[in-house]
Amino acid sequence: METKKRKISIIGSTGSIGTQALEVIEKISDKFEIIGLSGGKNTELLKKQCEKFKPKYVCSNDVDFKFDGIKTLYDEKGLEEICSNQENDIILVAVSGKIGLKPTLKAIENGIDIALANKETLVMAGDIVMQKAKENGVNIIPVDSEHCAIHQCIKNIKQVDKLIITASGGPFLHKTKEEMNSATVEQALSHPRWNMGKKITIDSATLMNKGLEVIEAHHLFGMNYDDIEVVVHPQSIVHSAIEYKDGSVIAQLGLPSMHIPIQYAITYPDRYEGIKSKSFSFSEIARLDFEKPDFDKFPTLKLAYNMGKIGGSATVCMNASNEEAVFAFLDGKISLGDIYKITDKMTQNHNVIKNPSIDEIFEIDNEVRIKTKELIKRL
Ligand code: MG
Repeated sequence: METKKRKISIIGSTGSIGTQALEVIEKISDKFEIIGLSGGKNTELLKKQCEKFKPKYVCSNDVDFKFDGIKTLYDEKGLEEICSNQENDIILVAVSGKIGLKPTLKAIENGIDIALANKETLVMAGDIVMQKAKENGVNIIPVDSEHCAIHQCIKNIKQVDKLIITASGGPFLHKTKEEMNSATVEQALSHPRWNMGKKITIDSATLMNKGLEVIEAHHLFGMNYDDIEVVVHPQSIVHSAIEYKDGSVIAQLGLPSMHIPIQYAITYPDRYEGIKSKSFSFSEIARLDFEKPDFDKFPTLKLAYNMGKIGGSATVCMNASNEEAVFAFLDGKISLGDIYKITDKMTQNHNVIKNPSIDEIFEIDNEVRIKTKELIKRL
């Protein structure tokens, strides 16, 4: 029996998650029809994707980009047009940065389900986004391996006592605080388990990535921060777990491949063999280790909990100042240890707005970025 093809658009199709999503779709191409692709400035790859996948719409940031037979759209307006198109059954938001927020809101307003791989959407505007999704009956299915794991474990959120988010610990898990804080860009970019974009790899080295994930988990699953625990698990086999009221713990396990959570999110609630390359074997893995995170060595994790608890614009400020500091580190302007110092200082000086509007969120984001760059110059 032939099932109806799922109509999908990918915002950020040329990035790390986007390209892997297209690998998944290629494997199970009879399950999907691609409505739109958007690829920012990487026009070479976007062109190749257009040839291969023949979307109806393509969106680029390059005004000269054109592709015969495919309606070409541009910039943020183009993204919003794709996300307003009700032909879509689901939209994979795979861009990184604040550019993901407005298209996501557009899709939600149009009742289109979201496979969410963009962290900023929930970190910057989690309250608004989750409220709108509820009002519009929209499913938000997380792509991030940890939230995807929790999504797979939960049957009834009311019976859950605690979320347990695993962290690989990054490249500095067994290095001293001093070694970590003075690490080179190359050392910080050599993540032991996951192959990801540069910004998120640096965030994984400082554990800010885990902090952002705690904030996302709070919004996605409506859990209090005190009921979200982070545990370091270097093998990255247990992708996260939940503890039910009665003490039962359910975890989701698998080999560390982003293909699995991406495929889960875009095919939910169905499952296919898809891109699976290898069957899971406990005996081959042999051991799984767990340890408490070192909040002294990784103060960004504590900062993220604190800002999450304050809520409102506090997480907007933290996210923007951290991102600017990460860019400065990647440019060789500051040390890895400075990222925390800068983010901490910026959040301390921030006047929190309790329930910011989307416009206020973008204003605060802009302001914080300007001030963070000034602070970096003064260092
Ligand atoms: Mg993750």
